[in-house]
Order: sequence, then structure tokens, then C-alpha cells
Amino acid sequence: MSGAAGYALLGARSSFAAETTGTQMVPQNRSQTEPDPRSTPLAVVATTGMIADAVTQIAGPFVQVRGLMGSGVDPHSYRQTRSDIVAMVRADLVLWHGLYLEAQMEEFLLKLGHRRAAVAVAESLPASVLMPYGQYENRFDPHVWMAPMLWADVITAVEAALIAAMPQHAEALAQAAARHRAEIAALHGYATAALDQIPDAARVLLTAHDAFGYFGRAYGLEVIGIQGISTQSEAGLNRIGQLVDMLVARDIRAVFVESSVSDRNIRALIEGCAAQGHRLAIGGELFSDAMGPPGTYEATYIGMLDHNITTIARALGADVPPRGMNGQLGGHA
Ligand SMILES: [Zn+2]
Repeated sequence: MSGAAGYALLGARSSFAAETTGTQMVPQNRSQTEPDPRSTPLAVVATTGMIADAVTQIAGPFVQVRGLMGSGVDPHSYRQTRSDIVAMVRADLVLWHGLYLEAQMEEFLLKLGHRRAAVAVAESLPASVLMPYGQYENRFDPHVWMAPMLWADVITAVEAALIAAMPQHAEALAQAAARHRAEIAALHGYATAALDQIPDAARVLLTAHDAFGYFGRAYGLEVIGIQGISTQSEAGLNRIGQLVDMLVARDIRAVFVESSVSDRNIRALIEGCAAQGHRLAIGGELFSDAMGPPGTYEATYIGMLDHNITTIARALGADVPPRGMNGQLGGHA
């Protein structure tokens, strides 16, 4: 009886798997297929979308990459799910950001590093190029992807980790990494030309949390984050009141919302300014800690930064191409 029931269940499951996922769910007999190490993709897990994109750019044909944090996900508060843990434990290579960005995952990732190849790629940057994190000593602002030329150095760390895992593809990986760094250098050139046009009085970037420190340093903008460097701290009423007084006194007219952070504080600021007769407008939505929706140009690192640069430059008074440096904003990748 139980044997027959078991058989029926197995039959039902097999046809379900075949219908919904094609051949993916059909177990493979490894001894018969004997994978060729040169053609089997390396299983790579990346915590953030930015790192997953770096892996795709450098090693697309040789890897199967899984990014844990999708569009709109806040890395400061993200905690690994059960399926993330399974993926990381089974991966050939795990790439994470470090610099305490993945605050809730750090303990797990450090432990994982004892049994798996796991590399914190942003920690390859020397302390001399990093910005401080609040009042903490020996802790740094993790948002380094905001400065393209710093991210180009992180690309080099991603390249090194991929070459160490796949030395047989070293030449192709090095070529792709060099090509991607050249794209990033062009992005930096576009940013410089676009943001240089902003008039002096308007060179203030007011955002929900302090994700744009490196961006401001690279392009000469004063950056004010309402919430501090991590999204984990709340902006108090006092802080909002002080900011409103400052915005009115300095006649700052634009504030930016972020795709991965609640806009509650931004609304409080706009209302506070309105109560004093000062019109503060939303200058646009920026991608701070996560990229755009899957399949869009903004779901690539270049597209994410192009969107931010173009949105900020336009809102603060520069003349920029409506669809950004590549004419691709608002379209598919
Ligand atoms: Zn952040």
C-alpha cells in the first residue's frame, strides 16, 4: 500500500517538475555525464547586486551567479534566508562587500570563510582612500560603489578572486575586467562633465541616508544624509527641525529619495519647509544601496550610476542628455 502511494506521489512530482521547470529539476547522474571542468559554470554567490553585476561583466560565460539582495533591498538590515544559506554553502565562490555593509550577515560570512572561498571585495581598498564612518575609529563608510574610480579598484579584487577560482580562464577574465574598467572610466568622465555644470550655490546633495559621501567627494558636492550612514538609525524630530532651518536659510530646493530607504523622513522635511514658506521639491529617486528592477539598464552598475548622475545633475541645474550617457535610461539592458 505505502509503496503504491509512494510511487503515485513520485509520479505526480516528476510531471509537476517537468511541466514547470523543464529539465532543471530532473536529477542528473553525474557519473554518466562526467562534467568537463572547463565547461561547467562556477557557482558564484554575491551578496549585493553591484557585486553580482561585476561578476557577470567579468566572467559571464563561465559562471552561474546568484545575487542575494535584489532591487530595493537594504543591505544594512538584510539577513540571510534559509535558501541563501544553502546557496552559499554549496557555492564555489562567495563574494561579499565587507566594510560592515552586510551588518546582519557579517558573522555568518566570516564563519563561512573558514570552510568556503569567501572574499570581502571592498576590503581590498586601502584605508587611505576610505572615508570615516561616524565617530567610530577603524570603521569606514561602506558605500564605495558611489565613486566609479574606487569601484574600478573593487573590480580588480573581483577579477583576482575569479581568476584564483578559474585559473584556466585567466586571460579571458583579465580582458573582460579591463574592458569593464574602461567603461567605468568613461562613466567617471561623463559624471565629471555633467556635475561640473551645477552652480556653486546648488552643490548640495540631500538624501535619505548617508550613502553618497564618496560620490560627493569625487564630484565636489556637499552631502547631507538625513538618517546617517546606516539606515538602522532613526532621524529624530530634533534632527528634522535643524535640517529644515538649514534648508530654508541656505535656500536649498531639492531633496532626493532612495529606492531602498523609506521616504518618511523626506516627507517630514518637505512639510517642515512648507510650514516656513520654503518650497522643497523631490529631485528624483536615486539608487543608493540597491540597483534597478531586473532586466533594466538600471539593474547594471553602469546604468545605476548613470541614472544617479543624470538625475542629480538635471535636478540641480545642469544640462544633461534626457536618457543619460548611453541613451539607455528607462530602457532594457
Ligand atoms: Zn547604505
